[in-house]
Amino acid sequence: MNYNKKTVKDIDVAGKKVLLRCDFNVPQDKTTGAITDDKRIRAALPTIQYLLDQNAAVIACSHLGKPVATFDSYVKKQAEKGKDPASITEEEWKKSLAKLSLAPVAKRLSELLGREVIMASDVVGPDAQAKAAALQPGQVLLLENTRFEKGETKNDPALAKAMADMAEVYVSDAFGAVHRAHASTAGVAAYLPAVSGFLIQKELEIIGGALANPKRPLVAILGGSKVSSKIGVINNLLEIADTIIIGGGMTYTFLKAQGGSVGKSLLEEDWLDYCNDMMKKAKEKGVKLLLPEDTICAKEFSADAEPILVDSMNIPDDCMGMDIGPKAIAAYADAVKDAGTVIWNGPMGVFEFPAFAKGTQAVAEALSNSNAITIIGGGDSAAAVQQLGYADKMTHISTGGGASLEFMEGKELPGVACLLDK
Ligand code: ADP
Ligand code: MG
Repeated sequence: MNYNKKTVKDIDVAGKKVLLRCDFNVPQDKTTGAITDDKRIRAALPTIQYLLDQNAAVIACSHLGKPVATFDSYVKKQAEKGKDPASITEEEWKKSLAKLSLAPVAKRLSELLGREVIMASDVVGPDAQAKAAALQPGQVLLLENTRFEKGETKNDPALAKAMADMAEVYVSDAFGAVHRAHASTAGVAAYLPAVSGFLIQKELEIIGGALANPKRPLVAILGGSKVSSKIGVINNLLEIADTIIIGGGMTYTFLKAQGGSVGKSLLEEDWLDYCNDMMKKAKEKGVKLLLPEDTICAKEFSADAEPILVDSMNIPDDCMGMDIGPKAIAAYADAVKDAGTVIWNGPMGVFEFPAFAKGTQAVAEALSNSNAITIIGGGDSAAAVQQLGYADKMTHISTGGGASLEFMEGKELPGVACLLDK
């Protein structure tokens, strides 16, 4: 995939109407609907501010949550959950939609920008059309939740065209949604000159750069829960990395494949052969693949379980691996010390329990002390680094969970592929 895409700076937006796809999929309090974290709204500000400084008229859009766009599918979904279809009213469906309105986002965005944000009550309906038509340079309009339109997730060309018709330029800054080929993330680019905003630009430059032309040695640190959810990442990084470090729950399938005893640890029997193949492949390619020499295990999966240090190949029958041990920490820190680039996906242990967060913390510390370009991808990995206080010490923490995983898998991202090449 070509990561070298035109940005908002490579195109004339002065005085133009710009359709800006943002990632305003913010977490909300279940009962009050209040936005509990406005990081994603703040992340969009540099691009919005730039467009306003250029005197563009900004038509922002985003999805929020997973609304069910038609009453029929709502009834079907509720029936699947065991509800009597006859008892489901249209009223109830409309209420479920209202909960996912972007109106609270418009309010917060307006506070952050210090200027009015006009809210449309639909996506491409009469209200959006009228407000977009009347929008003046320097003004901001926010369309309603794109997933209120059933054509959004189907990438319906008619919806994409209707969105495009309101604007003259398309700017995408929703990195968290670029792995989805939806009408507002990809389809619309067929009808307008399409470029990236600053968020996507940074993701492409740093992650794309590390994948396409890394400063070596490239060390990939892979952890998290399951081998099976990381096959694509392992496969792709094995092709480009100089060293691969394994930690987290996926470790035990590798250890078992090597003849170790893993006790009650997370194990995916179906992937034993795969792990052996990967070990073999790494050897053939001259890629160093490191497994932890020691393990911190516990008798039960709980925050106050007693941490027990064991040799990784001999985890007792009544124990499960929870974190990497001190010897592994030393070896892993040594491996990243002289790295040119480190790509990290997946915590080294059950970091949510402080007693088992030491491995993840030590790796974060090692990264913060190295001169390498350090890249964190994956939702839980980003959360771990933030929670442990290392966020500002990393070169880049990807803003997209699923999108960054697919990026590291080397997959084509529809929301990036559709942008103009430089
Ligand atoms: P990411 O979202 O960064 O891609 P994953 O979703 O793959 O990461 O994995 C994160 C989860 O893996 C965390 O919730 C963590 O508790 C879990 N995990 C890490 N080590 C272990 C382990 N030894 N046993 C069970 N779960 C683990
Ligand atoms: Mg995760």
